[in-house]
Amino acid sequence: MQRIVVLAGGTGGARFLRGLKLAAPEAEITVVGNTGDDIHLFGLKVCPDLDTVMYTLGGGIHEEQGWGRADESFAVKEELAAYGVGPEWFGLGDRDFATHIVRTQMMAAGFPLSAVTEALCRRWEPGVRLLPMTDDRVETHVLIDTEDEGRKAIHFQEYWVRLRAEPTAHAVVPVGADKAEPAPGVLAAIGSADVIVFPPSNPVVSVGTILAVPGVREAIAAAGVPVVGLSPIVGGAPVRGMADKVLAAVGVEATAAAVAAHYGSGLLDGWLVDTADADAVPVVEADGIRCRAVPLMMTDADATAAMARAALELAGELTAEVAP
Ligand code: GDP
Ligand code: CA
Repeated sequence: MQRIVVLAGGTGGARFLRGLKLAAPEAEITVVGNTGDDIHLFGLKVCPDLDTVMYTLGGGIHEEQGWGRADESFAVKEELAAYGVGPEWFGLGDRDFATHIVRTQMMAAGFPLSAVTEALCRRWEPGVRLLPMTDDRVETHVLIDTEDEGRKAIHFQEYWVRLRAEPTAHAVVPVGADKAEPAPGVLAAIGSADVIVFPPSNPVVSVGTILAVPGVREAIAAAGVPVVGLSPIVGGAPVRGMADKVLAAVGVEATAAAVAAHYGSGLLDGWLVDTADADAVPVVEADGIRCRAVPLMMTDADATAAMARAALELAGELTAEVAP
């Protein structure tokens, strides 16, 4: 049985995983999820990326939005607002609240996030093994200039959701990552994988944050199996969202080729760019990364499954070459 490890953020990662499950129904898929986006709100621990994967694969996602629950209502949020209790800019629906209550209660009882995630997944049955990158607290902060307080680090969610990534990001820092340990099972899954996939997730604040957990990058580089990625940048811009803003913060151009070079040939063996970026193929290959141009728009299940199949085919071609 093929063992696939995927480093996933939220929407881009989750949608890709849905295609991967269709493309490789027999495979054993382990997802290492980003927890740098996690935030405490109203005394509750919220894990946006883990939940997006869980809800998307478990059939509970709000499809158009790409995050949060389908058929959601906002009574709790409205009642909190009536008490003047915010933040109002973060959309937590009533159904979603229940997930965060269960998570917070279990963590208060002493369970690590990995055990809590496993328990939540018992309800959702995502069909993959979903592991947080770490059980330790990591919080991505973004350095911006403010009028009142000068240069200041704010929580990633405040930058992304409240400020819509409008201010220039001077730096992106996964606070706590340097002292974090990979969650139980993460290094073992990487070590026994047949292929490792970077889905079209945000290269800085999703995949980049996972790679910032000490040991993860090293384990991937040492795994001796193909590492294949799919570009979240198509035609010089992110397909959704503001990834260009955080790429700029780390000095990387918002192009498919620049993102491949950012991961680098020390980590990445293969890279898929969209057919719109076919020009990038020789550029990426000159960097020592095997590259193909295929359609990369996750418009529906079939198109997404075809992307996953292309990634696995590229990995297949590379298997003989990367073996230790
Ligand atoms: P987030 O945590 O919700 O921001 O989600 P991820 O980090 O997993 O993925 C975000 C990235 O997905 C963005 O940079 C988008 O450009 C990318 N993305 C979204 N939809 C598509 C798509 O259909 N095709 C490709 N290639 N990338 C996509
Ligand atoms: Ca995210």
